[in-house]
Amino acid sequence: MPICIECRHPVKTLWTSYSGAGDKSSGHNIRLTVCRKCGRFCDKYVEHDFVVLFIDMVLIKPQVYRHLLHNTLMRDNDCFDPSIIRLGVLLLLFDVYLTWARLEKQTLPHIAPGQSNLGELAQQPIVYQYFFFLILCSASTLAFHVSIRFLTSSRFSPLAPLGILPRYPRPNSVSTALLVSSSTKLFPILMIIWEYDVPAAARSLGWAVVANNVEALRILLDCKYYTACLLAFAGAAARWAVGRVVLATAGLADVDSMSDSSVTADGKALWALLVYAKQWAGRLAVG
Ligand SMILES: [Zn+2]
Repeated sequence: MPICIECRHPVKTLWTSYSGAGDKSSGHNIRLTVCRKCGRFCDKYVEHDFVVLFIDMVLIKPQVYRHLLHNTLMRDNDCFDPSIIRLGVLLLLFDVYLTWARLEKQTLPHIAPGQSNLGELAQQPIVYQYFFFLILCSASTLAFHVSIRFLTSSRFSPLAPLGILPRYPRPNSVSTALLVSSSTKLFPILMIIWEYDVPAAARSLGWAVVANNVEALRILLDCKYYTACLLAFAGAAARWAVGRVVLATAGLADVDSMSDSSVTADGKALWALLVYAKQWAGRLAVG
């Protein structure tokens, strides 16, 4: 059942169509339902196009997540919407590109300038290298989703008996929320146009994606912020651990190690992101 995106009150329909609806020459001829509880439109995003949705998603507006997760993409039998599967594939391919660029450009103390970070892997044919990164990213993404789905939806999840989070019986909806909120990852398409400091951009982006993931989980599961943060943290830890195992198997155990310098770099990236978000919010307020 759809909900009002402003107050979460369940509603029967989000709009009423009148005669001639669907006929382009006569306009839309639909009327948005007004919520009985809060008196606002139940779902204003019904009439908005994808660009508006994407901008509001980047700005982490809870209403847009409620629109996508409760009113558009959720199916009664908890199966994936085809557009979500396409988005998942696109995100994976972006992840391959970003991870590859990040690992290649990372400065490691024991590697001389001019030598590749990727060691023997760098001597392999490019297709072979691509498949390695594809496996690395698929395995890490899978670990991220499986761990969060386990914690939210499995009967064996420790969170339900501890009273932290009641069991949520729709694991595919959880994955949908994670994929939709990871769309921020598509931003590096701008890197094709502008020259970026790739490792710093990848880090800032990583934090932006985490913030979006936390918000989407909180809205879908209707839980507290710290519960959503806990889930996102558990997912990130599983992703990192699986990534380490794959890298170590390929003899690249030194790459991407958590050192002091990477923590400072993370801090700097987070700060840059906050400053950027503040400037952007200021510009929007003026405009
Ligand atoms: Zn309402």
